[in-house]
Amino acid sequence: MSLFLQNVTLVDLAPASVRPGCSVRCADGVIVAAGPDLTPGDGDEVVDLGGQVVMPGLVVGHHHLYSALARGMPFPADGPKDFHETLKKIWWRLDSALDAETVYCSALAGGLDAVRCGITSIVDHHASPAWVEGSLDAIGRGLGEVGLRGLLCYEVSDRDGLEVARAGLEENRRFQADHAKSPLLRGMIGAHASFTIGNETLDRLAAVCDESGAGIHIHLLEDGVDRTISVADHGADPVTRLDQRGLLSPNALLSHGVHLTEPELERLLDAGVFLAHNARSNMNNRVGTAPVGRMGDRVVLGTDGIDGDILAEARAAAFRGREHEPPVDGGRFVSMLTGAGRLLTQYFGLEIGTLAPGAAADLTILDYESPTPMTADNLVGHVGFGWGAHLVRSVVVAGRFVYRDRQFTDVDSAAVTARTRAAARTLWKKL
Ligand SMILES: [Zn+2]
Repeated sequence: MSLFLQNVTLVDLAPASVRPGCSVRCADGVIVAAGPDLTPGDGDEVVDLGGQVVMPGLVVGHHHLYSALARGMPFPADGPKDFHETLKKIWWRLDSALDAETVYCSALAGGLDAVRCGITSIVDHHASPAWVEGSLDAIGRGLGEVGLRGLLCYEVSDRDGLEVARAGLEENRRFQADHAKSPLLRGMIGAHASFTIGNETLDRLAAVCDESGAGIHIHLLEDGVDRTISVADHGADPVTRLDQRGLLSPNALLSHGVHLTEPELERLLDAGVFLAHNARSNMNNRVGTAPVGRMGDRVVLGTDGIDGDILAEARAAAFRGREHEPPVDGGRFVSMLTGAGRLLTQYFGLEIGTLAPGAAADLTILDYESPTPMTADNLVGHVGFGWGAHLVRSVVVAGRFVYRDRQFTDVDSAAVTARTRAAARTLWKKL
């Protein structure tokens, strides 16, 4: 299958480039060529996009699809007083109530939402302690039906006992091995956070990472409670515990880092880990302000389960960054939109997130009638003050339209939505 998109404006966010009057040719899931003066190949489906923006596919670098059915759910009358109580009273209650149908529906609902926001890949962090085995397959199936690429894991913790922790470890191990060569799925080794994981389980996580070659995906110092409980119950701070077990690798993804000290940040930068920044979630949970200006260049942007709207995340992060002392340059958040592509590149063994020949043909297509001139020099201003999910017209994953002129090509979204609403009602009754 080959696709020729002509009359497009090619945009790269970092380094910035804006090239009107171009074409893109995709075949066998990858970009064959992108630029001016191209001609279609034999058998190409030729599509004239009338000057629409074509850019490397947007990625959610840290998501919790399991929270997709929580939108609008009734909250407990005795509202949480702090972050730890928010986990206990809301999220752990929700994820413990998930079963086969609601996990699958969460992936479908979150997948539809993400595609509408121009997303081509999701890096997900999943928990459903009452239904562990097969849960990652259910998410993979949901994403596959929508047409998305996914890097998945199960968030292991000891909060439901060692038996559930073992099941989570095994789910990570099995899924990662089963999908070592899947076209659109890969696995990481997931873990909730240092403070909910004892030394025995953390040792086992390290062994699974070692054997599989995959990195850990874990929350790190999102709130101060991660440090206090890790030190009190497990004998060391979170960064030291991960470091002692060789878990700070270039394949690792550590999310939040709000309460990192300067020496800890330096250790992470030396180790070359990926850090996920989730500005809206940090604000919503009132956990503090991440040291985002000093997190280096291996930073991905995540929505932390809020939604699939990574452009909204980037803009919110940029405005939040203006309140830092000193303020963080808005361009930093635009380049963070490309960080997750580099993480996916490591896991898929295929360049993801660029328009280079041979890169995955994952494309976000925007209908952007810019009211002012748009060039490489002022692209940050357009993204920061104008771009949003309302501009998303089409989405291509692995060289195939999964969303075309604001219609899904593979799924009947009305039928899926009826099913996910029914699943949400059932789930809320259980809570
Ligand atoms: Zn998270």
